[in-house]
Amino acid sequence: MTETRIIPADEAGIGEAATLILRGQPVAVPTETVYGLAGDATSGEAVAAIYTAKGRPSFNPLIVHVTDQAMAETIAEFPPLARKLAKAFWPGPLTMVLDKAPGAPVASLLTAGLPTVAIRMPLHPVMRALIETTGRPLAAPSANASGSISATRADHVARSLAGKIELVLDGGPTAVGIESTIVAVGNDGLRLLRPGSVTVEMLETATGLTIETSDSGKIEAPGQMLSHYAPAKPVRLDALSAKPGEFLIGFGAVQGDASLSPSADLTEAAAHLFDVLHVADGSAAAAIAIAPIPDRGLGLAINDRLKRAAAPR
Ligand code: AMP
Ligand code: MG
Repeated sequence: MTETRIIPADEAGIGEAATLILRGQPVAVPTETVYGLAGDATSGEAVAAIYTAKGRPSFNPLIVHVTDQAMAETIAEFPPLARKLAKAFWPGPLTMVLDKAPGAPVASLLTAGLPTVAIRMPLHPVMRALIETTGRPLAAPSANASGSISATRADHVARSLAGKIELVLDGGPTAVGIESTIVAVGNDGLRLLRPGSVTVEMLETATGLTIETSDSGKIEAPGQMLSHYAPAKPVRLDALSAKPGEFLIGFGAVQGDASLSPSADLTEAAAHLFDVLHVADGSAAAAIAIAPIPDRGLGLAINDRLKRAAAPR
């Protein structure tokens, strides 16, 4: 248990927050939408620590935050339509889901192994200062325990995440109060993944396009829109050794062709999960076997993902 401190989001506070983030620890910080739980997007361990603090039972991909267009373009590919939207709404509460740029400096856990990435350029001076001071793109889901509502004030965050994080930067109540609008941007179209304060009307005016919602005319929840990364090969769980033709993914005492964590550390295992799955999927083996992972802490989210990977398709 750590004691959670609330400190003013001034220069000293931002300096202290940056130090924690560069050590891999998440810090709660105001943005113009809701408070975010910010961590170093380039580090799998730092992204795993965000999940631990939130107590999230599954790995949804997180939004990465940047300060400028040059930084954005090291992370994502920008077709002309995405550039137009960036010009119209950035910095601001619009998140775009785009193809990852080659060699993008983000951990595979950030995108849950997907070839796409959700990216946003925030307007809030505190979040911007933190990105500048750390020099890192920052992953930041809402700063609240999993399953509870998003926080718009520092004391909401502290109540929801008490003992789970060290620091909350207090920048006062947030201006918008609801999460960013999320759109998936293709070469010639847009799909709304989550409504927010950048409205469909605003998006249509800026682009001259009609925005697609689902067939029913109702906007689908982002979770349903996601096709999560799953290996192409059959997956067998709770394996203590490999059968012929299997690539064994080890954990702890179970040594395999690769290991999620030889020391049985769940944070390390979460950080390596999608990289190791990609390696196993790309190997010459016909099937994948995976050692048992304990069902506690981050192990719950790891097992959630592994069960989906092993489900008959
Ligand atoms: P939060 O971090 O709580 O603001 O939520 C982030 C939202 O962005 C979740 O609903 C994710 O499902 C969605 N998201 C993040 N990355 C992607 C992606 N690559 N493709 C589709 N949706 C995404
Ligand atoms: Mg949330």
